[in-house]
Amino acid sequence: LDESFNQLLDWADTARSMKVRGNADTAEDARTARMFGAQGIGLVRTEHMFFDDERLPAMREMIFADQPEDRRLALDRLLPMQRADFTALFRIMDGYPVTIRLFDPPLHEFLPHDREGMRELAESLDLPLSDVVRRVEALAEYNPMLGMRGVRVGITVPEIYEMQARAIFEAAVDVGRSGQGVVPEIMIPLVSAMREVELVRHRVEGIAAAVRAETRTDFDYRLGVMVETPRAALRAGDIAEHCAFLSFGTNDLTQMTYGLSRDDAARFMGSYVGQGVYAEDPFHILDDEGVGELVLIGTARARERKPGITVAMCGEHAGNPESIAFCQRAGLDYVSCSPFRVPVARLAAAQEAIRQRLAESVDLDSGAEPDDWAGLGRITG
Ligand code: PEP
Ligand code: MG
Repeated sequence: LDESFNQLLDWADTARSMKVRGNADTAEDARTARMFGAQGIGLVRTEHMFFDDERLPAMREMIFADQPEDRRLALDRLLPMQRADFTALFRIMDGYPVTIRLFDPPLHEFLPHDREGMRELAESLDLPLSDVVRRVEALAEYNPMLGMRGVRVGITVPEIYEMQARAIFEAAVDVGRSGQGVVPEIMIPLVSAMREVELVRHRVEGIAAAVRAETRTDFDYRLGVMVETPRAALRAGDIAEHCAFLSFGTNDLTQMTYGLSRDDAARFMGSYVGQGVYAEDPFHILDDEGVGELVLIGTARARERKPGITVAMCGEHAGNPESIAFCQRAGLDYVSCSPFRVPVARLAAAQEAIRQRLAESVDLDSGAEPDDWAGLGRITG
């Protein structure tokens, strides 16, 4: 970054209290996020890690296995690769927190959808084509984004989360042993009920105990929940009892609050907004009478039940200046946005913090000019 821009960002940092993290799935993203001043990674989307040629076959084998033992065998092949993924991120972040979001997408995404692909898969798995076709059809859903994904997959096929938790803990032990700081955070996606958190927490605790015993090493970790369904926001009090942090995923939360597909909305929102139905495209700016309202309700309910719980935002809104200002006013602990938006987020958070402090000392709404602007120097450093 340009030196004077860096200096501006450093000044801005002295004014803001809300932290800024980056969303990063790869070592390169993590390095970019650090370069732009991210104070941690607030979202590692792990599903991308299973699509490459080396990993997809094991993933498919796992999907076709009927017994937990066979699923574990397939996932064991992925374990060293996942461990290496997380080790790299922990090393780059060097003591800053890294929030790893457990597996989120529908399993169907990992299967071929054309006849030729299914034929190849049948050959590689040594199964009749009809078995493959039947399984692909059985996993197909009319509304996959509202279906068997997120924690629902994690509970139905628990071996996936177990493998990921093991990879996270083993990576944390490795990195810790080399003397580097490491703060692993595990985040559960698409939660809508407290019981989901209890079930996953129980399994994750089991894996942590096993890795501690096997490695004879103690380590800490934090378990958190993504709030991306309206129900999770409304039940945030109960959910907070079972986790250390909450992070609003506004992509899904917006989709579910409006009942509007995040994948299709952009195509028609422009003309729709033009009709005056919504003031803004809801995926663009946080709507404080809808999605934002749920953020406020969820934050208040979680903090009422568990004062001091960390509350954050990691959906796309966390990279939008107006939405970031909203997060600052809502008192969130941090926002996590795409790496290239980290400087924007640092500035937006600082600007809103300054505006808030000025509003406390001067009645900005009255339009009156304050006599003494000296305080501003104090605020901006
Ligand atoms: C979200 O839903 O806001 C989120 C961050 O997760 P994803 O975009 O991966 O669904
Ligand atoms: Mg999501």
